[in-house]
Amino acid sequence: MRVLLLGGTVEGRQLAARLHPHVDVISSLAGRVPDPALPAGAVRIGGFGGVDGLRRWLQEQRIDAVVDATHPFAATMTAHAARACRELGLPHLVLARPPWDPGGAIVVASDVGAAEAVAEQRFSRVFLTTGRSGVKAFAGSDAWFLIRAVTEPDTDLPRHHQLVLSRGPYHYDDELDLLTRHRIDALVTKNSGGEMTRPKLDAAVALGIPVVMVARPPLPEGITTVGTVQEAAAWLAAMR
Ligand code: NAP
Repeated sequence: MRVLLLGGTVEGRQLAARLHPHVDVISSLAGRVPDPALPAGAVRIGGFGGVDGLRRWLQEQRIDAVVDATHPFAATMTAHAARACRELGLPHLVLARPPWDPGGAIVVASDVGAAEAVAEQRFSRVFLTTGRSGVKAFAGSDAWFLIRAVTEPDTDLPRHHQLVLSRGPYHYDDELDLLTRHRIDALVTKNSGGEMTRPKLDAAVALGIPVVMVARPPLPEGITTVGTVQEAAAWLAAMR
């Protein structure tokens, strides 16, 4: 059996490590970050060229099943995979790590919604962790932002900001220190889920700092979804 594993996440790497070499697995990465952590087994990097390109690639490579373990906010890739698999009649699974419980967070539907919430609540020193593509929505804001991203945003940045380029995992004590040192009065985050970036949320809650959380985009209708690497491996094993 030959499997396309859409990755770029820790779960994608864990699943590849579990499958390789017993299953013929090809992991695919978007190629957004320099020096990506590479999964075990075969790897390809870069877009497929939309749904048509993906459909062609799946046929050329004689793929038998697709597991989509992309980031929960990679909605375009997820929609393309769902459509290509449906059209080709290929088994398709989404591995989506469980979301965080938003608790008392202000939940919004988009980065623009998060920028509106920051303005409405008059937050003035914001820890902005929505990733390089999420910064654009805050470009017109008057607040000060501590922007943390893996790679430098290529869009306009807010007038008042400090940019920190780094990659998780992050640690609770460091996050407490960061929030305190910069006198942060709001955390803006996507509901990414997982443990690697969770400490910022725990630290904000411990310090009583309000959280603005961007909700996940909905998954395409009728998709088979699991929440853990183990379940994804079991789904594949049941197909063999
Ligand atoms: P996307 O918007 O869903 O995908 C855009 C295009 O990138 C896709 O149409 C596809 O190009 C290509 N692509 C995406 N994932 C791919 C993969 N695994 N293999 C091959 N091609 C892939 O996804 P995104 O641009 O990666 O990210 C969207 C959002 O998710 C952003 O908000 C980003 O911050 C977030 N994200 C976060 C993390 C993280 O670790 N924090 C990681 C990834 C993404 P073609 O149409 O040409 O096939």
